[in-house]
Amino acid sequence: MSDPAVEVKLEVKQASKEVKESENVAEKYSAMTVSKNSEMNMGELSSAFSAVPTHKPVKKQIQFVEDKQEFSRFPTKAGRRSLSRSISQSSTDSYGSAASYTDSSDDESSPRDKTQVNSKGSSDFCVKNIKQAEFGRREIEIAEQDMSALISLRKRAQSEKPLAGAKIVGCTHITAQTAVLIETLVALGAECRWTACNIYSTQNEVAAALSEIGVAVFAWKGESEDDFWWCIDRCVNNEGWQPNMILDDGGDLTHWMYKKYPNVFKKIRGIVEESVTGVHRLYQLSKAGKLCVPAMNVNDSVTKQKFDNLYCCRESILDGLKRTTDVMFGGKQMVVCGYGEVGKGCCAALKALGAVVSITEIDPICALQACMDGFRVVKLNEVIRQVDVIITCTGNKNVVTRDQLDRMKNGSIVCNMGHSNTEIDVASLRTPELTWERVRSQVDHIIWPDGKRVILLAEGRLLNLSCSTVPTFVLSITATTQALALIELYNAPEGRYKQDVYLLPKKMDEYVASLHLTTFDAHLTELSDEQAKYLGLNKNGPFKPNYYRY
Ligand code: NAD
Repeated sequence: MSDPAVEVKLEVKQASKEVKESENVAEKYSAMTVSKNSEMNMGELSSAFSAVPTHKPVKKQIQFVEDKQEFSRFPTKAGRRSLSRSISQSSTDSYGSAASYTDSSDDESSPRDKTQVNSKGSSDFCVKNIKQAEFGRREIEIAEQDMSALISLRKRAQSEKPLAGAKIVGCTHITAQTAVLIETLVALGAECRWTACNIYSTQNEVAAALSEIGVAVFAWKGESEDDFWWCIDRCVNNEGWQPNMILDDGGDLTHWMYKKYPNVFKKIRGIVEESVTGVHRLYQLSKAGKLCVPAMNVNDSVTKQKFDNLYCCRESILDGLKRTTDVMFGGKQMVVCGYGEVGKGCCAALKALGAVVSITEIDPICALQACMDGFRVVKLNEVIRQVDVIITCTGNKNVVTRDQLDRMKNGSIVCNMGHSNTEIDVASLRTPELTWERVRSQVDHIIWPDGKRVILLAEGRLLNLSCSTVPTFVLSITATTQALALIELYNAPEGRYKQDVYLLPKKMDEYVASLHLTTFDAHLTELSDEQAKYLGLNKNGPFKPNYYRY
C-alpha cells in the first residue's frame, strides 16, 4: 500500500513543477497586454500555448462511474418513437435554455416526416420549422448583446481564419447562446454540423435560424430517444463531408463516433468536451488506452467550473422552481443535497429569499464550508418528514430513495440540479400503486394511495435546463473557453498533444476572464516590478499556480 504522506509530498513536488512551467509561459506572454486590454492575436495565442512545455496531461484522480444506461419503462411524452434508454447519459450539466419562445405545441408532426428547404435551397438539416428562422435570428441577436467577449474574439480572429478547414461536429444544447458560439466558429473559418445533447433544451427557432444560414442542424425540442441518436448520426454520417473536430457536451457524440465510425474517429484532430460526465468518459477511455485522439477537458477550466456551475445555478434555481410551482421561498424548509459548486450556488439564492436551508454532504470539507456559511448539515432521514423542498446537486445516484419519498409530506417538492436523472430514484416511483398526474409541462404530481401528493419536477432531470432560462453572460465565458480550446487543438503542431486528456493552461483561463472584465468596466491593478519580484510572478500572469483553488 502506498504511504499517503509520500503521495502528498509527490503531489506538492508536481505542483511546484507546474508553477515553474507556468512562469516560463508567462515570460513568453510578457510582451502581450492581456491584463490591460486583452489585445492578443491568434498567432500570439497559439505561440502562448506552444510555450507550455510538453503539455504534460494533468490527469485528475477521478473515480469512474460505470458507463450505465438507465432504462425507463415509461416513454417520454414527446417520444413518438421513444426507445427505452433514458437521456441520463446525454449531457445536461452545462448550459442551455429551456425556453423556446415559438414552441409550436399545436404542431405534433415529427420533423423527420417533413422535407424542409431553406431560402438557399438546401435541405441538409432537420428542425421543427424552418419558417421560425427570422424569429430565431432575433433571439441570437439578443444573446449577442451579453456575449461581447466572444464577439470581440470573433472580430479579432476572423481575418486570420484560424479554423479554416476545420470540420466541426457539435453536440451541445442548441440555444441562442450556443448559436453565438457556432456562428463564431463559422466566422473563424469552420464548417459546422450540429445536434442537441438534450432532448428538451433545443430552442426551435434558433435551430431554424442556424439552418437558414447553412449550418446543418439536426435537433428539435421534444425529441424521442430514437430521434436523439438519429440526429447524431445524421450529423456525422454525411456523404462527402468528414468531421475533423468534435465539440461535445456529455460524450454521447464522441461515444457514437468511437463505436460506429472508428475510422473517422481515428482521424479526428481533437475533441473538446465540456461536461463532467463527458470528461469522465474520456478519462475512462484514456485509462483503458483506447483514446486515440487528443482531448481538452474544458469542464475543469476555472472559467467553466467556478462560473457556470456556481453562478449559472445561483441565478437559475429560483426561476426553475418559480415557473413550475409558484412556490414561495420565505420560511420554507429546503434541503440541498451536495455542497459543491452547484449546491453552493443554489443555497446562496435560496437563503437570500428567506428559505430555511439545510445541507446533506458526504465530504467533511464541503460540510464544514456549509456550516461556516450558516447552513445546518443534516442527514436526509432526520428531516425528511418536515422538508418542503429537496434539491439534489451531487452528481451521484439514488441520493433520494423511494423509502424517503414515501415519508415526505403532502405537497412537498423534489427536483434535481445535477447531471443525471438518477439522483432521485424516479424509476422506483413507476409502480402500480402510485398515480402520476401531469399538471403542467414538466410538473408531475405523484399520488400515494392515501391521497398524499409529492411534486416531481422535470421527471428528475436538471431543473434549470428543463424548466427555466440560464444567464447568457455566464455562457459567454464557457463558450469563449470552448472556442479557444478548438482553435488550439486544431492549430497545434503535430506532437504537441498526444492521445490523452489535457487541461487548458491557466494563462488561457486568465485570458478568458480578462476578456469578460470589460463588461463591468473593471480595472485590474498591475503589479509593480518590485511586487512581481516579491511574489515571484510575471507581471502579465499567470497569477496563480495550477493547484490554486479559487
Ligand atoms: P461537485 O463535485 O463540486 O459537488 C458535488 C457535491 O456532492 C460534492 O461536494 C460531494 O461530496 C457531494 N455528494 C456526493 N454524493 C453525495 C450524497 N450521496 N449525498 C450528499 N452529498 C453528496 O460538483 P458540482 O460542480 O457541484 O456539480 C454537481 C452536479 O451538477 C454534477 O452532476 C454536474 O454535472 C451538475 N451541473 C449542473 C449544472 C446546472 O446548470 N444545473 C451546471 C454545472 C454542473
